[in-house]
Amino acid sequence: MKVGLLGLQGAFLDHIPHFDHLGVAHTIVRDNKGLDEIDCLVIPGGESTVMSKFLKEFGMLSHLKDCIAGGMPVWGVCAGSILLAETVDGEPGTLGSLPIKITRNAYGRQIDSRRHLIDIPLFGRHDFQAVFIRAPRIEVTDNKVVVHAVLGEDPVFVQKGSVMATTFHPELNEDHQFHEYFLSL
Ligand code: GLN
Repeated sequence: MKVGLLGLQGAFLDHIPHFDHLGVAHTIVRDNKGLDEIDCLVIPGGESTVMSKFLKEFGMLSHLKDCIAGGMPVWGVCAGSILLAETVDGEPGTLGSLPIKITRNAYGRQIDSRRHLIDIPLFGRHDFQAVFIRAPRIEVTDNKVVVHAVLGEDPVFVQKGSVMATTFHPELNEDHQFHEYFLSL
C-alpha cells in the first residue's frame, strides 16, 4: 500500500506525519509515472487554479481522471475538493469526479479564515476543531453523495464511494482519524 501526495503546489507535506504515524508508505506525485505507482491519492489544500493549471501543463489531467474513474481512492482537501467538483462557480470543474457544486472562497478572504467546531458522527466526534482557510462552499447535487459533516447547513465533509472531500484541513490537527478513514476506502 502506497499513498500518493499530489505535489504540484500547496500543503501536501503536512500529510506526511499522519501517514508516518499510521505506518503507511507514501510518495510525492508530480507526473503520470508517479500516478501509476500509488494506491490512493491526496489532493492537498492550496490554490486550486494553480494546481489545475499545472495538472494540465504536466499532462496529468486525463490520466488522473482515468485513475479516479477506475476506482483509485482520492481525498481532496479544500482546493483539492474544488478540483474534484463537477461544477465550480458555474463552470465545469477540472476533474469532475464528484457530483457537487462549488462556490470558491465562499466564507470570505484569507483574513476571514478561522476554526469552527463541527460534529463528525462518523468518528463519534463532537466539537472537532476544523480549520477553514479561504474555504469553498459545497452544494451536493446527487443523493449518492454522503454528507459526513456540516457547518451550519453547508456540507464540509462529503464522500461518494472512494472519493472524499473536506473543505477544511484535517492535516493541521494532531489526530489521524481522517487519514485512517481515507486508508479504509
Ligand atoms: N481558496 C483556495 C482556492 O480556491 C482554496 C484554499 C485552500 O485550499 N485552503 O483554490
